[in-house]
Amino acid sequence: MTASVTNWAGNIRFVAREVLRPDGEEALRKAVARNDRVRVLGSGHSFNRIAEPGEEGVLLSLEALPQVIEVDGERRTVRVGGGVRYAELARRVHESGLALPNMASLPHISVAGSVATGTHGSGVGNGPLAEAVREVELLTADGSLVRIGREDARFPGAVTSLGALGIVVALTLDLAPGYGVEQYTFTELPLEGLDFEAVAGAAYSVSLFTDWRAPGFRQVWVKRRTDQPYAGFPWAAPATAKLHPVPGMPAENCTEQFGVPGPWHERLPHFKAEFTPSSGDELQSEYLLPREHALAALTALGDIREAVSPVLQICEVRTVAADRQWLSPAYGRDSVAVHFTWIDDTDAVLPAVRAVESVLDGFGARPHWGKVFTTAPATLRERYPRLAEFRALAQELDPAGKFTNAFVRDVLGE
Ligand SMILES: Cc1cc2nc3c(=O)[nH]c(=O)nc-3n(C[C@H](O)[C@H](O)[C@H](O)COP(=O)(O)OP(=O)(O)OC[C@H]3O[C@@H](n4cnc5c(N)ncnc54)[C@H](O)[C@@H]3O)c2cc1C
Repeated sequence: MTASVTNWAGNIRFVAREVLRPDGEEALRKAVARNDRVRVLGSGHSFNRIAEPGEEGVLLSLEALPQVIEVDGERRTVRVGGGVRYAELARRVHESGLALPNMASLPHISVAGSVATGTHGSGVGNGPLAEAVREVELLTADGSLVRIGREDARFPGAVTSLGALGIVVALTLDLAPGYGVEQYTFTELPLEGLDFEAVAGAAYSVSLFTDWRAPGFRQVWVKRRTDQPYAGFPWAAPATAKLHPVPGMPAENCTEQFGVPGPWHERLPHFKAEFTPSSGDELQSEYLLPREHALAALTALGDIREAVSPVLQICEVRTVAADRQWLSPAYGRDSVAVHFTWIDDTDAVLPAVRAVESVLDGFGARPHWGKVFTTAPATLRERYPRLAEFRALAQELDPAGKFTNAFVRDVLGE
């Protein structure tokens, strides 16, 4: 059966026997006990079938559960429920005078769904959002609650887990003291002669945007922490009007610019919580590759501009520090992340996706788990040196494969 639930983008209508919205712990436990195939839908911002349970399975939304956010000011941690979104979490953490180390381009996404796919922001010193997680609480296939903390040998498999280990009922995250951020935007940064390391490291978080219609970058977004030194951005001209990264979209949807100081959670995302992020009518793809190849990869992409630009809304280039999650696209590699916001037309977009992959494959690219990709499963497996450990962990916690699906089976090679 095809459930009447789609993802945020509307390009996926999930196939499921049933969609359930448990409103309490008891209902959640029953849903897990009574069904052989279970997947959770977070806020549905992925662009592929990663959350789909399939014909025999149930799709669980956790939105009707109590939305737990418990800040512990003394330990500087927050315990957050499995259905909570970053917008609400960030507001509450900020009210406590504390901060998250980084955010993605939008606050609309759920925390559990984001860390499950390796979601990231930008910054040469910033790992993926999963880096903040110190403990995962999983409702597993046999109905038991399993806590896996940083000290546990299973931890590197437990956070960026593609939803394959059980239901994440809560996560505990480390917090930092609150900090301020100023956001500056610039236009027209040439690719030729680009000192990528200097540009990417110019501030806490830097994003480069191009439409690939001409060489170089149309916009640069620089987010500097007010408690850290900043020597300015001498490589491009300061913007003279407020910008939206997607051509034609209203800049009022975006966070403050022109260096107006503000709290971390109102500057690190590009898009404001109360507006549609990005363009709304779109598909997305993204690939992470070793940062040392950034310039070569961008130059090679420039050579296929004609295949890419007609179906592209905008391309964003960010950096992500290496992390230790076995299934993280940034696992063990300081990475450059090359993101594509495509037009909303799968048939027209797929040839461009393949063209991008044929270029980036040569640099060992790992696709973002939550976006559109066509990388062959066997190639994916080669790119994850700790896949066997993850497979063993999934087998230990979920021997009958209650929480698996076709997407996960492809990745694990089962
Ligand atoms: C406009 C837009 C902008 C984006 N910007 C960025 C960006 O800046 N950086 C970036 O890296 N990505 C970005 N993404 C991608 C997005 O962050 C990922 O797709 C992320 O997974 C979305 O979280 P979600 O809650 O919507 O996950 P979903 O798509 O709902 O789910 C993702 C996976 O998590 C699992 N899951 C969710 N909750 C649970 C739970 N409680 N227990 C077990 N499994 C669970 C699901 O089963 C699924 O496998 C963007 C997406 C959109 C639409």
